[in-house]
Amino acid sequence: MKKHNFSAGPCILPQEVLLKASEAIMDFNGSGLSLIEVSHRGKDFVDVMENARALAIELLGLEGKGYKALYLQGGASLEFLMVAYNLLETKAGYLNTGTWSSKAIKEAQLFGEVIEVGSSKDENFNYIPKGYSVPKGLDYLHLTSNNTIFGTQLKKFPKVDTTLVCDMSSDIFSRQLDYSQFDLIYAGAQKNMGPAGTTLVVVKEDILGKVSRKIPAMLDYRIHIGKDSMFNTPSVFAVYTSLMTLKWLKDLGGIAAIEEINDKKAQLLYSEIDLNPVFDGFAKKEDRSNMNATFTLTNDKLKDTFDAMWKEAGINGLNGHRSVGGYRASMYNALSLESVGALVDVMSEMERKG
Ligand SMILES: *Cc1c(COP(=O)(O)O)cnc(C)c1O
Repeated sequence: MKKHNFSAGPCILPQEVLLKASEAIMDFNGSGLSLIEVSHRGKDFVDVMENARALAIELLGLEGKGYKALYLQGGASLEFLMVAYNLLETKAGYLNTGTWSSKAIKEAQLFGEVIEVGSSKDENFNYIPKGYSVPKGLDYLHLTSNNTIFGTQLKKFPKVDTTLVCDMSSDIFSRQLDYSQFDLIYAGAQKNMGPAGTTLVVVKEDILGKVSRKIPAMLDYRIHIGKDSMFNTPSVFAVYTSLMTLKWLKDLGGIAAIEEINDKKAQLLYSEIDLNPVFDGFAKKEDRSNMNATFTLTNDKLKDTFDAMWKEAGINGLNGHRSVGGYRASMYNALSLESVGALVDVMSEMERKG
């Protein structure tokens, strides 16, 4: 039986997507060949890449606004340095909201001055800094929309008159936003849109080509745009499976429809965390993530009992990240409301026992 998969990443994918991906592995479009053994330059795969690029732009509401979508490799971690390589001439601002922003800052420092406009490190990143000011003259401001490890999420984005870059690895396609406020968005596919192996980059073309340094071809967004995201062999399986997930999302009604479900899931779990005396939420209430809910037991002695109970209920992937401890329930797009219900049942059962 399929488990209730709360894994933080690689994440749960819709069953029908897994089925389509496995069919294509055996026989791609009735060609008598596998998806992973045909040329990426053949028409069948070129169509996959073009459709995946177009559908990402469509779902984000960015058609006709000067954006290009790319499916690159190297994970979101390579984007930490690619962003700086392509955009950082003198100085950039970073909002430090957790492990991933800290890593992005470290890479950017190799290319220029980094100004931390705000940080929540003082409280182990359990909140989103507010009221910070953004200095003039930045090449760009970098944000992380959802902090996968700590379970916080930006609900409001600052209005700035500089280029806005956002790491959306763990909440892209999960909620309605004016995506055109960002000039560059990147996301490792494995959190909310597909398997590991590809990174979606959506970039406004006119922000590129302004730095004076020479950029190696593989790290140059303009080269990848010029080659229609086929400069080198793309991750054919990851791109195909991401396309299937985006199609699933579109058929469901797009981001507006999934946001409604995601809100219900988050409300269900957070109200249990708040009402149940056996559990404590980790993140500050107003900054709680709808994707990753972090919580702890109020009494550590209950750990073995609780762990046995959720495993018994067919739940997977609930252990928290080592830098927070406790538990983390990741409720990405493909996780059903029923799965969250199964977790909440175990939590209330724990209250009766505890
Ligand atoms: C997981 C994650 C990353 C790192 O992604 P990789 O694809 O493993 O490099 C970066 N940023 C955020 C917000 C993440 O959740």
